[in-house]
Amino acid sequence: MKEIILIKNGELTLKGLNRCNFEDILIKNIRKSIRDLGECNIRKAQSTIFIEPKDESFDFSEALERIKRVFGIAGFSRACVCEKNMDDIIAKSPDYLRDDLKKVKTFKVEAKRADKRFPLTSPEICREVGGVLLSHFPHLSVDVHNPELVVNVEIRDYNAYVRGEQLQGAGGLPVGTAGNASILISGGIDSPVAAWCMAKRGLRLNAIHFASPPYTSPRAEQKVKTLLSKVARYSGTINLAIVPFTEIQDQIAENCPEDYFTLIMRRMMMRISQKLAAKSGSLALITGESLGQVASQTLPALVTTDYVCEMPVLRPLIGMDKEEIIEISRKIDTFETSILPYEDCCTVFTPKHPKTRPTLESCAEAEKGLDIDVLVEKAISETIYTYIE
Ligand code: ATP
Ligand code: MG
Repeated sequence: MKEIILIKNGELTLKGLNRCNFEDILIKNIRKSIRDLGECNIRKAQSTIFIEPKDESFDFSEALERIKRVFGIAGFSRACVCEKNMDDIIAKSPDYLRDDLKKVKTFKVEAKRADKRFPLTSPEICREVGGVLLSHFPHLSVDVHNPELVVNVEIRDYNAYVRGEQLQGAGGLPVGTAGNASILISGGIDSPVAAWCMAKRGLRLNAIHFASPPYTSPRAEQKVKTLLSKVARYSGTINLAIVPFTEIQDQIAENCPEDYFTLIMRRMMMRISQKLAAKSGSLALITGESLGQVASQTLPALVTTDYVCEMPVLRPLIGMDKEEIIEISRKIDTFETSILPYEDCCTVFTPKHPKTRPTLESCAEAEKGLDIDVLVEKAISETIYTYIE
């Protein structure tokens, strides 16, 4: 039996004139995500995207897995391709829907005729298909109000399609429709989740990571790459800039008061990041900060880090509890990697009593022993670029 995948757009329906553009980007993203799974035809018609495998070698079930992670898709389903006549629809439906129907006790059939020349009306199609399914599966009954399964029959231009269970898509907007932003990625739980949240709203991601060898190990860097590759399953390719941060940390340790270490480190990260971000075409920075989670994320602390950064900073987790963040990190499969115990540059230099109520003036005073511009430029010139798929 020939099978295809039918995809329904998410919020795209809201976008008026932009819709075509959005759909084209979505199709491009879908095509990229399944390009190594075999040959298929991808086309759109009447707000539905069709994926038609060209032959048996197409990896259908892996394609379904990947499509689950493409943003901009509300729902999708596999469907059986039928000829445009009732005989073929009735011949194929029971077999095709067997697994779905065995799982439920109640169902109903809905029919849609995009081709109005089809000889039966929609209610007639529903009656016929429903009757055949009831006779094949005696455990079933029809429930038009609250069925466990809705069987869809669609009569389109060239074919009819029969489909059972609708699968939930990833929602959001297609990656690339909202521009580019740079995620400051650590090896922790929060920043990969923040990256995922913003990719979901259509941003294409660049990433910036600060590494402090030998305080941080190559395994910590590898951990960041692994985390990004998990995010990239949703966001597509991510360009990663790895910034050497050791000298800056040593300078801070030598020249600044200990209770300001983390804050000054964060300010240095923001200064460097906004320059790297601008170079890579990003319009904003993204961080995994959540209000009050740690000393450097109190409101006065965030004010002092924002002050040194002209670029907007997106903080999608700002109002979330740790539990809510962890729930997402489990869902996107970054949690187990995030909790691996490799040191991050921030944890290496954590002060015993970090400042929770800094002011702009006290921060400026605390970092006056640093040659900030020189340190920023040097770090940028020594940054190493790579990309993550
Ligand atoms: P995470 O779980 O993301 O590490 P966290 O709760 O540990 O967050 P901090 O260590 O204070 O918080 O970092 C706050 C934010 O700063 C992170 O979410 C991330 O965006 C950024 N950040 C921290 N360390 C680094 C780093 N080494 N490289 C790049 N960005 C970093
Ligand atoms: Mg961290």
